[in-house]
Amino acid sequence: MKTLSEVFKKYEAVIGLEIHTELTSLDTKMFCSCKNSSTDPVNQNVCPVCLGMPGALPVPNKDAIKSIVLAGLATNCDIEKNSMFYRKNYFYPDMSKNYQITQGPVAFCMRGHLDLDVPTKAAQERVDIDKEEDGSYIAHIGITRIHMEEDAGKLNHIGGVDGRIAGADHSLIDYNRCGVPLIELVTEPDLRTPEEARLFMQKLREIFLTIKISDCSMEQGSMRCDGNVSLRKRGAKEFGVKTELKNMNSFKNLHDGLEYEIIRQANVLEEGGQVYQETRHWEPSNKRTVVMRTKETADDYRLFPDPDLAPYDLSDEFIDSVREFLPELPDQKRDRYIADYGLSKQDASELAGSLEQSSFFEEALGDKKEIAKSLANIILNNLAGYLNAEGLSISESKISAESISELAELLSSDEISSKQAKDVFAIMIEEDELPRVIVEERGMKQVSDKGAIVELVKEVIAKSPDQVQQYKDGNQKIIGYLVGQAMKASKGQGNPKLINQTLREELDKL
Ligand SMILES: [Zn+2]
Repeated sequence: MKTLSEVFKKYEAVIGLEIHTELTSLDTKMFCSCKNSSTDPVNQNVCPVCLGMPGALPVPNKDAIKSIVLAGLATNCDIEKNSMFYRKNYFYPDMSKNYQITQGPVAFCMRGHLDLDVPTKAAQERVDIDKEEDGSYIAHIGITRIHMEEDAGKLNHIGGVDGRIAGADHSLIDYNRCGVPLIELVTEPDLRTPEEARLFMQKLREIFLTIKISDCSMEQGSMRCDGNVSLRKRGAKEFGVKTELKNMNSFKNLHDGLEYEIIRQANVLEEGGQVYQETRHWEPSNKRTVVMRTKETADDYRLFPDPDLAPYDLSDEFIDSVREFLPELPDQKRDRYIADYGLSKQDASELAGSLEQSSFFEEALGDKKEIAKSLANIILNNLAGYLNAEGLSISESKISAESISELAELLSSDEISSKQAKDVFAIMIEEDELPRVIVEERGMKQVSDKGAIVELVKEVIAKSPDQVQQYKDGNQKIIGYLVGQAMKASKGQGNPKLINQTLREELDKL
């Protein structure tokens, strides 16, 4: 089997994610007052607590507890009032006190979910999904828990391939990251395709950016994702043996790593082989996963409550005070764009699904509700197309909200056509000019003068007797050809809506 669609004819993939997010918005680490910055010069931000010196006592960072409660509220979790910190014991140089402080069976946030808009094609791989009234598909992705923990230090394997220990000459340890506040979100095995996994991760990232708990940089590693995946025959209830995937540090790697692994497992099963429970490393450069370690039994971390940290008893007042910081979330924003501006669900979801795009949209819109549709169109097509091609973000480009707003005004008032809007946009980028100036200087205004359009249309009718006859014989589609001819005759400057309307009027007079 070579492709996902081949695999999905026979098998169903069951995918779960574990997503670690560093709370980069906080000033200090989780249990000490060291600066919370893992990118400073090595071993600058350390103290006896985060280095784990004997006798040093941890003091929890209250703002970190607020952040995780906020994350839980934003992802529909139940906030557990009574949870506590545990010690996860292990020996590794990245954590010099030989245990990591994390949470036990009860985490601050439990039993959440996110609703995922699943593209129609991906939805066909699901047996448990119904079509919504508006034709879209929504998958309900469970969140098992979000717990609080501290990050470990960073090992730099010198001479190793891809930052891994294999082939390394020696390793250096940087403890700046040791003790950095970290939240881990674990999903239920509710995802079915690599596409859904990518969409879930994107949606979660936008939510965390919106509630401002982290910069969520997958490149810098402040947001990291592991996945586990297994296959089962379509219709089967029991889960197959799962493998865990590491190193999926971008949306593309997450998607491609899972895709590779699903196809690999399918081929093992097809050949009568057995999938082993193991941890595998995604190698983007070789486009494959390789075994990191085989797990025969669960690791024994001897998890027990940390005697240095008292159990929590969060009050309703505390949880309510955090709730007040909950901003408008992407789904609520999408619904508002549909209700207030009449945007299509697709446009509204796309805009609201990106904090950067929606902030730009709202800045450019101001109180000019009437330009909302044209504006959404320009941002999602012209601007996004340009930014994608150049690999830029909005803030990195020199396009201002004022100029995009002006372009949307020209388009929504029919002064220019969408074809002309595209041309004006291209000139805006090249020459850094305002849209109105470009339109004036180049005489690009759309011809909306009824008299001129009637003349144009009459000429086209006179030149196209065959097509006119076809129209009169009931072929409505031929009008497209005639509009095209009239647009051509106007050198692309005719108002297509007006041309269409005038053509029908003139034809009906014949
Ligand atoms: Zn410290």
